[in-house]
Amino acid sequence: MAASTNKFIAPTDQQWQAIVANDHQADDQFWYGVTSTQIFCRPSCASRLPKREHICIFANPDMALAAGFRPCKRCRPTAELVSNQTWVLEIEQVLQQQYAEKLDLNELAKQVHGSESYLRHVYQQLTGQTPQQRLTQIRIEQAQLLLTTTTASIAMIGRQVGWANPAYFIKIFRQQVGMTPRQYRQQFHKSSRI
Ligand SMILES: [Zn+2]
Repeated sequence: MAASTNKFIAPTDQQWQAIVANDHQADDQFWYGVTSTQIFCRPSCASRLPKREHICIFANPDMALAAGFRPCKRCRPTAELVSNQTWVLEIEQVLQQQYAEKLDLNELAKQVHGSESYLRHVYQQLTGQTPQQRLTQIRIEQAQLLLTTTTASIAMIGRQVGWANPAYFIKIFRQQVGMTPRQYRQQFHKSSRI
């Protein structure tokens, strides 16, 4: 019963074919987790096909949960709704972990297994912000931290928080904070000397 092995079970060819074909016949015979996202699904799930090497097989949903995987929002492998609150936490986690990358709504929706419009709707309803606004906020906070704790250049900091174009970074920063990154840094060092 209690499989004490840490090694995930790779899919057989037959299981892989069922996943590729979104085969409903295979539902309730096995569940599959995606190690890169830590989400698990029914074989019939219509979400983006993961790489085969990222798939691990579970004999039941409880085993997937015990291994730390979260049920997919789309195919609901535990047959119970993932509450929107939980989902928003998942979205927050992706934003926090990947703010420095090219993260648009489309990519975000893929990662948390939902449609773009539904994602924006639920997120805004529960947090009062759109996911894009939240992403900007996280990037700005991170930039503020780097400006005051490092000596990295403005352009470098912009890149590190996900804005490759320095002019754009400065523009957004100014909009959000009310001063340029350079002014922000100078002001911080002035006030910390007092
Ligand atoms: Zn799914």
